[in-house]
Amino acid sequence: MLQETPLRSVAAGVPGEGSSPRAARPFFFLSDLHLSEAIPRTVAAFEHFIRVTAEAADSVFILGDLFEYWIGDDMLSEPFVARMAALLHTLSERGIGLYIMHGNRDFLLGKRFMKAAGAIWLPDPFVITAFGTRIALAHGDALCTADRGYQLFRRFARNRFAQMLFLAWPFRWRQKLAENMRSNSEHGRTRPMSIKYDVTRKGVAALFRTSKAATMIHGHTHLPARHREPGGTRWVLPDWDLDHGERRGGYLKIDADGIRALPLD
Ligand code: MN
Repeated sequence: MLQETPLRSVAAGVPGEGSSPRAARPFFFLSDLHLSEAIPRTVAAFEHFIRVTAEAADSVFILGDLFEYWIGDDMLSEPFVARMAALLHTLSERGIGLYIMHGNRDFLLGKRFMKAAGAIWLPDPFVITAFGTRIALAHGDALCTADRGYQLFRRFARNRFAQMLFLAWPFRWRQKLAENMRSNSEHGRTRPMSIKYDVTRKGVAALFRTSKAATMIHGHTHLPARHREPGGTRWVLPDWDLDHGERRGGYLKIDADGIRALPLD
C-alpha cells in the first residue's frame, strides 16, 4: 500500500517549477527522537533544531518515533506534550512545512495531535519527489521482515478496530500496557540487539521496487549510514540521544546539491 500525494511544496523543489519563495530551500529529514521528559538534553537539542536549524528549511520531515511512546491524543493534556506540540506548531507559523510519519512507538499519533502540531501526517511508506529526486520514505520497522513476531504485532497494532478498542481504555490502563510493552520488547530497546532487528535485503528490495525510487530514507534501526543497495541508495537516519554518554543525533538535508547527513549544531 504505497501512497503518493503532491505535498504542499515538494513540487517546488523541482527546479523551474517553483513559485514558492522558499522554492530553493532544503528539506530536512529526522527520526527516532524518542522524546520524553526523561531526556532533557535531547529535548533541548530538538527545541534548538526546530527554533534555529529548521529556519533554513522549506519543510521538515519527521519519519517516526518522535515520541518515546504515544497512547492516544489525550496525552496532549500533559504539559510536556503540549509544549512539544506548540513548539512544532511554530514551524507552520513561520511558513515551514511539517510532515510526520508514524514510528513503531508513536503510531497512535492522531488527528488531534497533527492539528496541535500544525503537521501533515504521512502514511508509511510514502514517495516524494524533491529537487528532481524520487525518494521513498519509511520509518523502517516494516522493513525488518526477519522479526516475524514483531511483524505480526505490527499488523495487529495497525488495525483500526484494535486501535479503537485500545483508545477506549482508561488512560492509566493504556499507560500501564505501554510500560509493560516497552520493558518486554527487544524492539523497544534503544539499540537493536541483533541482526534480526535490522532491515532485510528482501524488505529493502521490495520497497525500492514498489516505490520506483532509487533513493530511500528511513530510521528506526539507530544505525545511521548510507548504503549502496542493488535497488539504489539507502540512507538511514540517526537516533537522537544527548542524555546517555556520547551525543547521538543528526539529520539529512536535501537541496539542489543532493543529500547530505549533517550533525546537530
Ligand atoms: Mn522505531
